[in-house]
Amino acid sequence: MLKIKNFKKKYHDREVLKGIDIEVNKGDVVALLGPSGSGKTTFLRGLAFLTPGDSGHIEFGEQKIDVQSATPTDVKQLRQKMGFVFQNFNLFANKTAIENVEEGLVIGRKWQKEKAKNQAKEALEKVGLLEFANHYPSQLSGGQAQRVGIARSAALNPEIILLDEPTSALDPELVADVLQVIKQLADDGKTMIVVTHEMAFAREVADKVVFMDKGLVVEQNKPVEFFDNPKSPRLKEFLNRISAANVAQNGFEYEKATTS
Ligand code: ADP
Repeated sequence: MLKIKNFKKKYHDREVLKGIDIEVNKGDVVALLGPSGSGKTTFLRGLAFLTPGDSGHIEFGEQKIDVQSATPTDVKQLRQKMGFVFQNFNLFANKTAIENVEEGLVIGRKWQKEKAKNQAKEALEKVGLLEFANHYPSQLSGGQAQRVGIARSAALNPEIILLDEPTSALDPELVADVLQVIKQLADDGKTMIVVTHEMAFAREVADKVVFMDKGLVVEQNKPVEFFDNPKSPRLKEFLNRISAANVAQNGFEYEKATTS
């Protein structure tokens, strides 16, 4: 469904993406892992042209885009197929939860207000927040705000949702609810790319795990192979480091991540 080939990006002469190749099949959840600074966010934002890449090719179904020569129409068509969930939610502070969800439908999709409201209600219900529809972001916990962010994206029914570290700004006790909502979307067959540090989640929910380091895809595999039988020294080292940190912080989570 989605093929990205040789995707590159420089910031001030420093190449932070050195030619990324990733394929995503319809209905798949791809978990993108890697150390901080490896280029995960740059890649995800590049894919949606929020921060455009320098070169590469993106094939999305019938649409083929040369990143270097993409027109505004190309970008608009591509974006219509994509939803984006940000680390810091990016909700409008002066709009209620339901207004935040409606916004993209009314402004972006030009839906009638009433139809948008119904769709927004349904989306909020799916993330368990219908009763918070009229709350402003400041009246929501971080976990609730992120679930509104996910509802906003899912309400548009995009072909793929890109999630950039959706739980990393949350207090630990709020993470599980948000992961559960994402798992629900996966169970419903939604195609997603998720940048995450949640190893147990990646193992349980992803169909494919991709490891990036220093602007390159170093290894990718099905979760069990990826976690139990890593091939490259860099991935082995990364997993060792993460597991050591998790054991120190939270033995249970680590156990779940590595034995389930
Ligand atoms: P990750 O998401 O894996 O932590 P990022 O994509 O955020 O990595 O960053 C990749 C590299 O690009 C890092 O070295 C980072 O410092 C650099 N970078 C990210 N955004 C910018 C920017 N706007 N200007 C300059 N350098 C940037």
